[in-house]
Amino acid sequence: MKGLFLARFWGVRGSYPVPGPATVAVGGNTPCIEVQVDGHLIILDAGTGMIALGQDLLRRSVQQSRPTVATILFSHTHHDHTQGIPFFVPAYQGGNTFYILGPRTFDQDLEEALSRAMLPPAFPVQLQDLHSFKIIRNLEETDLLIFQNGNQEPQFRHRFRDSPPPDPKDVVIYTQKGYAHPQGGVYHYRIEWAGRSIVYATDTEGYLGSDQRLTQFAKGADLLIHDAQFTEAEYLDTADSRQGWGHSTPRMATSVANSAGVHTLVLFHHDPSHDDETVLEMEKRARTLFPSTYTAYEGLSFDLMDLPTPDQAL
Ligand SMILES: [Zn+2]
Ligand SMILES: [Zn+2]
Repeated sequence: MKGLFLARFWGVRGSYPVPGPATVAVGGNTPCIEVQVDGHLIILDAGTGMIALGQDLLRRSVQQSRPTVATILFSHTHHDHTQGIPFFVPAYQGGNTFYILGPRTFDQDLEEALSRAMLPPAFPVQLQDLHSFKIIRNLEETDLLIFQNGNQEPQFRHRFRDSPPPDPKDVVIYTQKGYAHPQGGVYHYRIEWAGRSIVYATDTEGYLGSDQRLTQFAKGADLLIHDAQFTEAEYLDTADSRQGWGHSTPRMATSVANSAGVHTLVLFHHDPSHDDETVLEMEKRARTLFPSTYTAYEGLSFDLMDLPTPDQAL
């Protein structure tokens, strides 16, 4: 919808899906976030949360009698970020269009990585057999994505070369490569429109004294969605440490939120072994370090034009 800037969480869990009574409140699906910005639909990652999003998009498409057009941005192609795409029903429908963008990993193009996720005999349908119109392209860190004048197709510009600077009326997406995730790193994204911004930084591990590059990238963002998979006890466990696994603790996430001066922090990519109680306890502790912190759960949404203040706790 024109004039709307909204983020909605469909999958918030890292590693693998965990449905069941222990995860009912937070949800068990792997990463997928829908961003609606001034009439454009952007989907961040394609974990199993994307399956329910697909059903909802079908409903919206019938209701509004128009096809679905979306830009899908991959942080990286680990299984938990791609496993929803074979079951994303709108991709099977001929009238729909998807711009599918993400990093090239080592010497593998995004298209090749996604095709491998849907290859017989592991899966009965191949990526190229999906009937929707798909433009699949590697994204470079220097690429600036711009949506202009309501055009649903993202335009590519070189961030440091092409002029003029983006118009604040346009939707603009910046990319940053994060190196703190095995084996090929991840992309962080920053979506800006009308002076508001969302930063998506999943599957990243914090650094001593905060991640300075990410801090710069997230400077002044309204919403920072940051990995917070492990408790500090898990991260520091000398017998079974999670150091180097490419994920953060809530303390690391709050450290970036504080140093970047963001408005609201969302803890994301919850560990599959954490039940609802554990995740909510992590949120509570994180609020002592950064009051405007919320834990991501399925169905959570933020209106970027009207963000909650810390005293409106969930
Ligand atoms: Zn992940
Ligand atoms: Zn990963």
